[in-house]
Amino acid sequence: MGKYTKKSPKFFKNIREINGFKERRCTQCKEWFPETTEYFYMRNKSKPEKGFNPECKKCSSKRSRKWAINHWDIMKECFKRNHKNPERKAKEKERKKIAKKQVILLNIEEKTKIK
Ligand SMILES: [Zn+2]
Repeated sequence: MGKYTKKSPKFFKNIREINGFKERRCTQCKEWFPETTEYFYMRNKSKPEKGFNPECKKCSSKRSRKWAINHWDIMKECFKRNHKNPERKAKEKERKKIAKKQVILLNIEEKTKIK
């Protein structure tokens, strides 16, 4: 078995550059798209240096939908649990309230910083 490294030609098979524009081939539908967030999801939003997902947005959402259909029982259970548990609902409401407050506070902080 050969070593699989980032430098191997395998890694670059799905990436090409045309007139300075990077393109990436989706590993699912084999179509070429510009390597931007418009067509691909980031691997990790907080770490953009990690790059893009190997499959395009369309295929990603298709795959997660397929997963949901195949695992519908699990999904249904999750929905039920979320909706029928008043304690959890209240917690969720509280969490959202706190999050909203934090966003407002952050905004105020930003504004005062600029001034
Ligand atoms: Zn695709």
